[in-house]
Amino acid sequence: MKLSLGCIADDYTGASDLANTLTRCGLRTVQTIGVPSDDLALPEVDAVVVSLKSRSIEAGLAVTRSRSAEKWLRGRGADHVLFKICSTFDSTEAGNIGPVMDALCADSGDAIVLVTPAFPETGRTVYQGNLFVGAVPLNESPLKDHPLNPMHDSNLVRVLARQSQTKVGLVDLATLARGEASVRARLADLAGKGIGAAVIDAVFDRDLETIGNVALDHRLSVGASGIGLGLARALVASGKVRSNVAEANADAPVGGPAACLAGSCSQATLLQIANAEKAMPVLHLDPDRVVAGPDEARRALAWAKERIGDGPLLIASSSTPDQVAALQSRHGRDAAGHAIEQAMADIANGLVQSGVRRLVVAGGETSGAVVDRLGIPGFLVGAEIAAGVPVLRAVGAKNGEMLLALKSGNFGGAEFFSDALKLMR
Ligand code: ADP
Repeated sequence: MKLSLGCIADDYTGASDLANTLTRCGLRTVQTIGVPSDDLALPEVDAVVVSLKSRSIEAGLAVTRSRSAEKWLRGRGADHVLFKICSTFDSTEAGNIGPVMDALCADSGDAIVLVTPAFPETGRTVYQGNLFVGAVPLNESPLKDHPLNPMHDSNLVRVLARQSQTKVGLVDLATLARGEASVRARLADLAGKGIGAAVIDAVFDRDLETIGNVALDHRLSVGASGIGLGLARALVASGKVRSNVAEANADAPVGGPAACLAGSCSQATLLQIANAEKAMPVLHLDPDRVVAGPDEARRALAWAKERIGDGPLLIASSSTPDQVAALQSRHGRDAAGHAIEQAMADIANGLVQSGVRRLVVAGGETSGAVVDRLGIPGFLVGAEIAAGVPVLRAVGAKNGEMLLALKSGNFGGAEFFSDALKLMR
């Protein structure tokens, strides 16, 4: 099997977002957790998104990890690699976008690389090289106060030039609007002047499609899910990939018992739990007892094992903001959060050992802890349960065939747990 597209994402949720976007465009897509082992058995897929946690680590380390992901993807035949960054260009003067781009570009042999974080459907647009978040420039958006990488300059040509060894140019919207030939000519012109990276404007989805077509001339591009959408549509339009939207088998039934876990305390999740009470047995953990030791997780598992043969069930640690604040003041925020995440991971592991093959998890951090504990190396992305929340089929997992849904906080409708189980058979 030869990959049509390889992607390296600098964080997990960005990777999921990209994998979901590619799937919606018709690419059979696997998201891996970290750089996969050489012997990972993959189903027949068009794209792999390697999820790294390299956005805020030391630049040299981000380069090393990104290069090893690139090597793996090229080894699986990927002609084009997308380095997936945040659509708000989250980075500092030290990187990591510039240094990783420089290294991957050197490896690719390309004279110039296209760069755009534009993703119009989520309000990220780029005009004259300036990134807008909704109606305001990046430096007036909430990103100006980001705790790790406050963004004080909206001009991405300048931002990227400060991080990169190469000179950075611009392909503006007027050039883009004249079509692919015009973009190609501009890139050749920039490359001729020794400019190794070009920020490209994009305001509408059609701009991303033009960019995708041109980017496929190259071996590397840099951007967010928007350019992923452009690349995916270009691959399908060119016939290099047959759209597989209809026959993706990511959600083929696995059978076996189903369970839900909720560690999110978001308003949406609290409502979803209340609604689940009408459809399945629900166990509310005692958060103080969870923090105190392993007995509460054991009690939950015993409770689940008695019922798991009769149908889906839900185990929740979630509580209201007042109760969360009170627990945190008793135990400390990090200690309480970590203890509960680990207890949820223990419970997930126990459930899977007891035969559960369909697992729904509410909570971003909670999901991360569960996936780590289950040792799942990757997921084939399936149908969307709710916007941004697809059914996932575990790939290469030691526990065998399994379907998961991983939902962060506020995602999903009021009946999310039942909605998920309907698609996970
Ligand atoms: P979300 O996606 O809604 O942010 P996360 O799982 O990312 O959900 O984060 C929720 C955090 O709250 C986790 O660290 C979890 O362990 C913690 N938590 C879960 N239940 C409780 C509770 N009852 N009190 C305090 N913290 C909790």
